[in-house]
Amino acid sequence: MPENKCDDPRCPIHGQLKTRGTRLAGLVVSSKAKRTAIVEIDYTIYLYKYERYLRKHSRIAAHNSDCIGAKAGDTVNLAETRRISKTKSFAITGILKPKA
Ligand SMILES: [Zn+2]
Repeated sequence: MPENKCDDPRCPIHGQLKTRGTRLAGLVVSSKAKRTAIVEIDYTIYLYKYERYLRKHSRIAAHNSDCIGAKAGDTVNLAETRRISKTKSFAITGILKPKA
């Protein structure tokens, strides 16, 4: 839980935004846009033909409310929400590990 309060209506902790469904953890690669962070998720898939794992990643736009304020390099928790904009349907619920 973040110590500071915020008046962001789309904050998953202080606002009206409800979270549901998928929960993910990933690395923030950009926080340039206002109240939005780009979070990279690393995952592996197994290829039966080659009997090896393939490393993949995807980038998810997530709501970064004022009280959390995640920066590039932070590892964060994400929760699925309703669609907030064309590309955003996740919100950052907390910082798992700040940038070293
Ligand atoms: Zn807040």
